[in-house]
Amino acid sequence: APRKLAAGNWKMNGNLAALDQIDELRAACPAPACDVLICPPAVLLHPMAARAGDMIAVGGQDCHANAAGAHTGDIAAAQLKDAGATYVILGHSERRADHGETDAQVAAKAAAAHAVGLIAIICVGETEAERDAGSTLDVIGTQLAGSIPAGADAANTVIAYEPVWAIGTGRTPTLDQIAEVHDFMRDRLTGHMAGAGDCSLLYGGSVKPGNAAEIFAIANVDGALVGGASLKAADFAGIVTAL
Ligand code: 13P
Repeated sequence: APRKLAAGNWKMNGNLAALDQIDELRAACPAPACDVLICPPAVLLHPMAARAGDMIAVGGQDCHANAAGAHTGDIAAAQLKDAGATYVILGHSERRADHGETDAQVAAKAAAAHAVGLIAIICVGETEAERDAGSTLDVIGTQLAGSIPAGADAANTVIAYEPVWAIGTGRTPTLDQIAEVHDFMRDRLTGHMAGAGDCSLLYGGSVKPGNAAEIFAIANVDGALVGGASLKAADFAGIVTAL
């Protein structure tokens, strides 16, 4: 069965003082029934890993496709790992939009992550215009086919479905719409990766303590990738304990 995972994406938020959230999270859910991950800005990775202990994993929000070299401002997968990361988010829609990341670049980054033993959380999701046009499954299918590298398997790869229009908006798809995409992804992964039935499929986009339980009850939803609600330990704890 897929691992259950509650993942927080702090995006470009937080500072050293915000690491107190780690202690509060551990106090609020001392024995989680799922894996718990927080992906802070890169400068906070090492101090967060030192505070997080065994219960909370930490991860990066991006890495470069190359192992090292002349790439000013970029971070290599091995450097994330050295700082204490075990995961890295790749191909988030904000990076696809802000930095023009393509499916092929996401696949290359994921291969780099795999090469150093990081688990890649590969993000896919349709825009509102694409959903309105009825092309959601086509878009997701294309992104999956292009963004998952050779060598991906259920142990080194997690897929996150994040509808772009649901991120930070307070709007979520209906439970049926989430189920449709997650069933489709499970089906499509077969053929793209070994052990597709065991690959964790996360939903992301306006997940809150109040809607987490109903989303987690959907077949083929194995957890969540949480933005805003991961910034406050009390909110994130409400999501962790719902999984
Ligand atoms: P919100 O939970 O703030 O909608 O963000 C979702 C997201 O983009 C997580 O990666």
